[in-house]
Amino acid sequence: MTIMFPKMTASAPAPVSGIIADLHIHSTASDGEYSPARIAAMLDKEHIQAAALADHDSFEGFQEFRNAFHGVSVPAVELSVEYEHTGLHLLAYGFDPENKAFISCLEHFQKVRYERIGKMCERLCGMGVAVTLEDVKKNCPPSTTLGRPHIARALIAAGHVKSFNAAFEKYLGDGKSAYVPKARLDFYEALDIIRASGGVSILAHPGLYHRELAFDVLKKLPVDGFEAYHPNHSRSFSRVLIDHCLRHELPYTGGSDFHDLRRNKANVIGKWGLTSPEWETVRSYFNANCAYRIG
Ligand code: AMP
Ligand code: ZN
Ligand code: FE
Ligand code: FE
Repeated sequence: MTIMFPKMTASAPAPVSGIIADLHIHSTASDGEYSPARIAAMLDKEHIQAAALADHDSFEGFQEFRNAFHGVSVPAVELSVEYEHTGLHLLAYGFDPENKAFISCLEHFQKVRYERIGKMCERLCGMGVAVTLEDVKKNCPPSTTLGRPHIARALIAAGHVKSFNAAFEKYLGDGKSAYVPKARLDFYEALDIIRASGGVSILAHPGLYHRELAFDVLKKLPVDGFEAYHPNHSRSFSRVLIDHCLRHELPYTGGSDFHDLRRNKANVIGKWGLTSPEWETVRSYFNANCAYRIG
């Protein structure tokens, strides 16, 4: 069966009820707008019992989050990887947070991102849109992993654009006037690094990639599992992913991919993720296969 997906599914499905685990959240350690402690408070309010900050190329937020959150915290990161000239996102869970090779890989990509965002600022300035790296980093912790959303917020703050979407539409989106491509880690190299650090690899939001990447291709990738629940997945596509995982005894995960509280965003905390029995299955899988003991 060939299933094709539009990039960024327009109509988000209704959230699943009875969620107790959200395994995909972004904080100020990368391009999210809220600190790990603020996110922990939001999750506690929604009675979420297990969660993972999956910041881009960083787990700087983990300690603060684990200390603040009343539920179970899972170490995680989201990596941007290159598979056959296409960008994919890989979620790594349960790695040893002290693993030197993993840490230095993340540090390398944090530096790459910093330089890329600097280049995008230069492009904007060249077009008469004055925005500096200092503007972009304002209000962020010093260790933040920079991304395009940081520039979008700076452009809004300076009055250059009215909205986040306008910033991407006009300047920052793929191929737009200030866009600079991001250097990505090779997919197979990423799998090796994740495995060597005692983590497991989950393909993030399989419904969000380019049209030409049919599920036929994605399901053959040698990842440990798939992210089934995501605000940009239709309910039927989540079901396809779950059925595939159940048939092949692979774990499936889910989460909100929360970044901020912008209006009209489906990525809200408490509405996306795993139900209790699903989380218990994933928890057992992580405990059996990861260096990090979730307990
Ligand atoms: P980066 O990692 O710097 O390439 O930035 C990617 C992030 O930018 C994604 O995680 C989204 O949150 C956001 N993003 C990417 N494309 C768009 C878009 N067209 N409109 C709004 N946000 C976007
Ligand atoms: Zn992001
Ligand atoms: Fe992603
Ligand atoms: Fe994400």
